[in-house]
Amino acid sequence: PDNLQTYLEGCRKGGTAAFAPDYAGAVVAASCNHGGENHPQAVVVHATEGELAAALAHLRDPQSRVSAHYVVDRDGTVYQLVPERVAAYHVACGVEGCVSSCPPFLCGDGRPESRSIGIELVNRGKVPQDWPGAVYEDYGMAFGWRWWEDYPQAQRDALKRLVEDIAGRWGIAVDPEHVVGHYRVQGKRDPGPALNLFWERNGNPRGRAVFP
Ligand SMILES: [Zn+2]
Repeated sequence: PDNLQTYLEGCRKGGTAAFAPDYAGAVVAASCNHGGENHPQAVVVHATEGELAAALAHLRDPQSRVSAHYVVDRDGTVYQLVPERVAAYHVACGVEGCVSSCPPFLCGDGRPESRSIGIELVNRGKVPQDWPGAVYEDYGMAFGWRWWEDYPQAQRDALKRLVEDIAGRWGIAVDPEHVVGHYRVQGKRDPGPALNLFWERNGNPRGRAVFP
């Protein structure tokens, strides 16, 4: 049977929605919070602003009405929640509208969720100055705050591999117009200043781009 039909049927029955992952390295943890067809032309990167277990529970809870295609843990483990061919609820222009920095091909019709793949990175986002884990200090305070949980190299490497795989399969260019942070789409701050997708990071510690 068709992989997508198996998933959709599972969701309709309210049981366990199983599907084979689109990304060979992914562990399936299905969420039925999905919309209609997805025709990916961009990848939107998010941060969970919380821990893995809470993020998976929230993104899989039918009451939450939110989801993402993928969640990438700090150690690089990749979970797939929604098949790429259906829309996941990781972005929405409906209530607050989308921001002017969103590329027109993505937000022009107000339905970015039907033209994108959503990836959540497990990361706390803003942290206190004395946070015991790895911290990135953003001198410029571009998002109005100085201390952010840093993204471990294993997680950055896993994100790079996943995005390059998606981009290759869907013919998406890996560039700043087609691989964007959530803040480029809506009035959000995730994944924050610690995730330098295409640019050198000049705070503390400095660092090379995920996609150099
Ligand atoms: Zn987000």
